[in-house]
Amino acid sequence: MTADVAQYLIENEPFYQAQEDEIDLYQAAYQARMPVMIKGPTGCGKSRFVEHMAWKLKRPLITVACNEDMTASDLVGRYLLDADGTRWLDGPLTIAARIGAICYLDEVVEARQDTTVVIHPLTDHRRTLPLDKKGEVISAHPDFQLVISYNPGYQSLMKDLKQSTKQRFAALDFDYAPEKIECEIICKETGTDAETASKLVKIGHTARNLKGHGLDEGISTRLLVYGAELIKQGIKPRAACRMALVRPITDDADIRATLDHAIDTLF
Ligand code: ADP
Repeated sequence: MTADVAQYLIENEPFYQAQEDEIDLYQAAYQARMPVMIKGPTGCGKSRFVEHMAWKLKRPLITVACNEDMTASDLVGRYLLDADGTRWLDGPLTIAARIGAICYLDEVVEARQDTTVVIHPLTDHRRTLPLDKKGEVISAHPDFQLVISYNPGYQSLMKDLKQSTKQRFAALDFDYAPEKIECEIICKETGTDAETASKLVKIGHTARNLKGHGLDEGISTRLLVYGAELIKQGIKPRAACRMALVRPITDDADIRATLDHAIDTLF
């Protein structure tokens, strides 16, 4: 069990640039072992924040990227057949509950609702996890905490968390950082100069203003970091921006032209 814990501990501080008081708020929620929902668009720093907090709190972190094919067994565990017969294998949620990790379910809304309900008994006073197939109920370690991420932009009436799930979490709103902070993030992440970072952020803002006018989602901080990295590799800024910022997010010729134009004006 000790070996398990060590592999989930984060040794080196993950760089995280705070925007407001989210570090204090999260810390208070963790002290109360309160489940937390991190809401915000893709690539705005949600996962990085959770990694940073796990490091700061010296807790192991187990991250699960959720998808629509995920079943409750993928989270909880299953029996496996091997040479000696059947053997139970804990899933990531069970491991986290046993070792007192922070369990981060990324994009939990992607998972089917029958999968989502397995987290319910872990998120109230019971703090238990029933392993139905094994006929066992485990009590979560006192240090266990559940964190989920949620992208409000993607939700539809067909696909959303039920209120009975939502109302088990305290929530923090995340968004792309204000211009100055986003420049700092890009500089620190990539070692690029402030002028290049500032131009990349301006292109990001142009795209974010097109959200709802042909774009579902603007250019994320993640993609701006990619752009800076390509430039650092010696790629010409115009080509780097097209590859990292524009091509991934849209196939619409008009929107591409608008964004390409913004790039050519700046670089
Ligand atoms: P998501 O919100 O999709 O979980 P991530 O946390 O993976 O996004 O962030 C994507 C990338 O953006 C990170 O790898 C990092 O380079 C950068 N990033 C975004 N916000 C921050 C921040 N506040 N501090 C440091 N890096 C950030």
